[in-house]
Amino acid sequence: MNILAFGAHPDDVEEMCFGTLMKYRAQGDTIFIALSTSGNIGSNCHASREEIAAIREKEQLQAAAPLEAKVKFLRFDDEELRDTPETRNAFLNAIRWANPDVILTHSPADTSTDHAATSKLITEVLLVVGAKLVPTAEPPMNKMPALFFWDIPGGFKFEPQVYVDITPMMEQKLAAIACHQSQMAWMEGFLKDEYLDSMRAQSRFRGYQCGCHYAEGFIAFQALGFVADYRLLPR
Ligand SMILES: [Zn+2]
Repeated sequence: MNILAFGAHPDDVEEMCFGTLMKYRAQGDTIFIALSTSGNIGSNCHASREEIAAIREKEQLQAAAPLEAKVKFLRFDDEELRDTPETRNAFLNAIRWANPDVILTHSPADTSTDHAATSKLITEVLLVVGAKLVPTAEPPMNKMPALFFWDIPGGFKFEPQVYVDITPMMEQKLAAIACHQSQMAWMEGFLKDEYLDSMRAQSRFRGYQCGCHYAEGFIAFQALGFVADYRLLPR
C-alpha cells in the first residue's frame, strides 16, 4: 500500500504517527510525507523565516530517513494556512502525488489553526481525487483512500477509536522527533516543555488506555461513502 502522512509542520508526523509509519514500512508499504507549511515561524533563534524553513526541511528529511519516505513540502506560511483555491489545488495535487491507499492527518478538532486547516482541506478535496475535471499537475487517482485522524497534542478532545501498539518502535520514534533540534530548543527554552518527555508521556498514556506500553491513537474519517476501514491500520 501507499501510505501518506499529511502534516501541517515539520515534526507533526513524527510526534503523532511515526511508530505507526514504522509498522507500515516493516510490512512493506511505501511511505509518503506531505507538509502543508514550512513551520517558518517556529523558532525565535533564527534571523528570518527563510532560514528557519531551510533548517526545518533538513531536519524533516533526517527524521524521515528510517522510513525511506518520499517527502513533499508545500511551503505555505506557518500559522497562515487558509482554505483558498490555491491551497485546495496544492492539497489535491499532493494527495495525487502519493496515490495513497491510506491517509493519516490531524484531527479537525485540533486547536492549532494550521493543524485543523490541513485536516479540513484534506476532507474537502477527498471527493475529487479521481475527478479529471479538477486538474492538477499530478493525474487523477483511480481509487479512494481511507482517511484516519491522528491524536491531538496533549490528547485534548480526542478519544481514539483504534490504537496501534508502537512499543517496539518507541525509541526510534523519539530518535526521529529528536531530529527536530530547532523545535527542541524552542519548546524547552521558550515554552518550558520537556519535549521528548512529553512525547513519551502521550504515547505511554495511549498505551495505558489500550493495554500495551506505548501506542498511537486514531479516529476514522466517517462520511457517506468514505468510512475508513480500521483493518487498514497496521497490527
Ligand atoms: Zn504542528
